[in-house]
Amino acid sequence: MGGISLFRGRTASRSRLVLRLGDMGDIDRTWLFIAAGLAFFLILTIRNRKKRIPETKVYSRRIEGFQVVAFLHPKVSQACLADHGVQFGKGFRRKEGPSLPHDERCRCRTSAFSYTSNEAFHGALRKFRDPDVSIERLPAQESKALLDAMRAENGAHPPETVEQYLERSGLSQFSPDSRSSVEAFLRERFEFLRTTPAAAPA
Ligand SMILES: [Zn+2]
Repeated sequence: MGGISLFRGRTASRSRLVLRLGDMGDIDRTWLFIAAGLAFFLILTIRNRKKRIPETKVYSRRIEGFQVVAFLHPKVSQACLADHGVQFGKGFRRKEGPSLPHDERCRCRTSAFSYTSNEAFHGALRKFRDPDVSIERLPAQESKALLDAMRAENGAHPPETVEQYLERSGLSQFSPDSRSSVEAFLRERFEFLRTTPAAAPA
């Protein structure tokens, strides 16, 4: 033991030397414990690294499924609006999508998607595909706003006048470029809601 050399040349009584060597023994044991602790820690770290490898394999799997994409038109049903964005397939809570078409006016479609697990982890599954719209070249953000406005109709009676309906649907939030076509769409929608009892809430 290197520790003994520390005491070489010292004039200490034998009993004292033994006592000191005994102390050294304790110190050595302390180091031994620390070394053992470090070794144990190292082994745990290596083991954890090894365990992580299969997880990496899981993360690299692709997330594949289908999504319902609604087609917004003035006579679309709430069922279509409600199902827009529904995701289903193997590995999803919903194994099967809604049976399409929802009704005779339904123009919903299903769209396949495939994301890496990394994309899914970063929110790809939450970014629902924008709905299709009968208004040509309506920006994606505005088609989403139109969808939200139409979804809000569910459970609410249509207002008395078309002006109230346009206001409630947030017509003013649409860009000047698309406002007139959105207004024509919403006027037609209002007429449909007013004249089709099945479209109105019970
Ligand atoms: Zn539909």
